[in-house]
Amino acid sequence: MRDCVFCKIARGEIPASKLLENNEVLSFLDINPVNPGHILVMPKKHYETVMDIPEKELGRVMEMVPALSRAVVKVTRAEGLNLFQTNRACAGQTIPHVHFHIIPRHSTDGFSFGWRQGNYPEGEMERLRKDIIKTLGDYRLR
Ligand code: AMP
Ligand code: ZN
Repeated sequence: MRDCVFCKIARGEIPASKLLENNEVLSFLDINPVNPGHILVMPKKHYETVMDIPEKELGRVMEMVPALSRAVVKVTRAEGLNLFQTNRACAGQTIPHVHFHIIPRHSTDGFSFGWRQGNYPEGEMERLRKDIIKTLGDYRLR
């Protein structure tokens, strides 16, 4: 896509601190890291969200995650990491080109996702489960 920042990085039109790269996938350092070593991994082809990308292509993106994670944990001496992902503005997506964040974590980093978890009213969880299964229809992984 012409005006997409991450497509421009994929095409080499704007610079990025690139890490691993193949024909379909590119990883690079996030320019504004939550912690040093914060990595982004994305398909080179433009898809907006995980709802849009074909599963095989998403699989290719995910294949790069373990090696990058091991390397950045070693280099930054992180105790762990978060694999994080946003879809659409309401979920915090600022660049509408699907990508994963690999964020090295330290117990002292003071960062928190601040999750607010609730619980279901009686019957709601089962109702939702049935609706999702019905909507999946006869979908099977190819
Ligand atoms: P998200 O909020 O999930 O859409 O994440 C977008 C991420 O892209 C943010 O963490 C930004 O810091 C990062 N970002 C934006 N522009 C660039 C860039 N030119 N190079 C590297 N990272 C970028
Ligand atoms: Zn794009």
